Amino acid sequence: MRKTFEGLILSETVLKERDKILTILTAERGKVSVYARNVRSLKRGSLAYTMPFQHCRFEVEERTSGMSLINGDVLHSFYDITNDLAAFALGQYILDVTRELTVENNNEADMLRLTLNTLYLIQKGERSLQHIKATFEFRAMAISGYMPELHGCDICGCEDGEMLFDVMNGIIYCRECQKIRNMGEARPEDTGTASIVLQLTPSILKGLRYVLSAEPNRVFSYSIAEDEQADFSEVCEKYIINHLERGFTTLDFYHEVANM
Ligand SMILES: [Zn+2]
Repeated sequence: MRKTFEGLILSETVLKERDKILTILTAERGKVSVYARNVRSLKRGSLAYTMPFQHCRFEVEERTSGMSLINGDVLHSFYDITNDLAAFALGQYILDVTRELTVENNNEADMLRLTLNTLYLIQKGERSLQHIKATFEFRAMAISGYMPELHGCDICGCEDGEMLFDVMNGIIYCRECQKIRNMGEARPEDTGTASIVLQLTPSILKGLRYVLSAEPNRVFSYSIAEDEQADFSEVCEKYIINHLERGFTTLDFYHEVANM
């Protein structure tokens, strides 16, 4: 049966001769795999609507064995971010994370919108890559079922002042309650439990809360003081990497080129 849908190409697996398999993120059907036949040649490269970083409308033939591509139209190309090495590295990482966090046969409209908005901002070049990356990481986790509870101290409920972020439990607690927690830390059952605790200044906490609660089209519209941007980024990256329990070669590559 012929079907059409829109989606963002997250990755391609090049096969023998002129074929490849595309991994595409769609809003209603989540992540899908599409077999694309005769779409690349040595002379002309690949057809535009079969390349990563392209948001396209696809026409496919769907059978029980899978989908094969018939035709496509590029709706918006993000391909020109590949002209800047740091932007390209970040874009690749964004696509990798999106692929990791999304599944098949699931409504992924929120994740698709976030990823498209993120690539769009990288392309525009008006926001720092560091800001875009941190915001994407934290929001993507919240969308994907890893929403931390940052309203107030997990023990006493207070909402203001400096807090400590227990990354793996996704909770915060205040200095006073930390002292009480520390007193109980000698308990034998606690040994061996890895905990990652990061300090959050009031302004970093405010930024994190904003990223979790902002309207989808406003999620990047905040700022962090320059001297706190590195700490803010560290919180977001630690949160995603530790919860997903994996690294990304594209993230390592981004760090390499961003520091050049
Ligand atoms: Zn407290």
